[in-house]
Amino acid sequence: MSDRSSTSPVVRAEDVRKSFGDHEVLSGVSFDVGQGTVTVILGPSGSGKTTLLRSLNGLEVPDSGTVTVSDVTVDFGSLTPNRSGRLPRAQREQLTALGRQSGFVFQAHNLFAHRTTIENVIEGPVVVQGEDEGSARERARALLEQVGLAEHADKYPYQLSGGQQQRVGIARALALRPEVVLFDEPTSALDPETVGEVLTVMRDLAEQRWTMVVVTHEIRFAREVADQVLFIDGGVVVERGAPEQVILEPQQPRTQAFLRRIL
Ligand code: ADP
Repeated sequence: MSDRSSTSPVVRAEDVRKSFGDHEVLSGVSFDVGQGTVTVILGPSGSGKTTLLRSLNGLEVPDSGTVTVSDVTVDFGSLTPNRSGRLPRAQREQLTALGRQSGFVFQAHNLFAHRTTIENVIEGPVVVQGEDEGSARERARALLEQVGLAEHADKYPYQLSGGQQQRVGIARALALRPEVVLFDEPTSALDPETVGEVLTVMRDLAEQRWTMVVVTHEIRFAREVADQVLFIDGGVVVERGAPEQVILEPQQPRTQAFLRRIL
């Protein structure tokens, strides 16, 4: 594992478990993510990758286990929903606090169709975080520059390509100044010719030492950019380590079989 992985963890998942009905999707997942590092989560379809990623910011509420992001820890096993499934206010606030530690980039960009690019980027800072609109716009312009969309600030989503829309989605996540950016298969809904531009932006973010957790099937990105790779299957971390280990010299038969299928 590279030196960068030995820095203090920003994200810590401990024994995270989640079932949907009687289907246990996460069966006790634990891992750490060091400050300024990139973690790639690989695994077959249906293995629980998205559920795990969403558990890191409370979009999904695990049945038990703890998740820490920066200075917020939620012990999911101690949450006490009432009979209608509603949590007491203090616990809801804990989940909200957890969610605010991270930015989330969805598979499909999820932009507001009737807002311009820059309006999409400032929405979170202004509405959720109460930032002054002037300063949010200034930061949004810098972020749009960073993702190569400065000249598209006043366009609407329908005027942008899929790759451009996804880059707006990334700028929007960064605008929240999160401790970690979570990417859920950010290129899987894109036309092949626009995948590269999104991966290039993600590489730039890695170089700038954003802390990132990325669910993806882009093996080359994982090999070249990740500090650690988690291979999950059947709701458990089957193998975890530097990309040279997990991708080039996998030890576990399930990892070997998966890589043979996708390489
Ligand atoms: P992956 O991202 O690895 O493809 P997911 O985390 O999306 O896997 O899903 C893991 C399993 O959990 C799948 O069998 C999926 O059908 C199931 N699942 C995910 N979300 C829900 C849900 N909200 N309700 C019921 N089942 C779900």
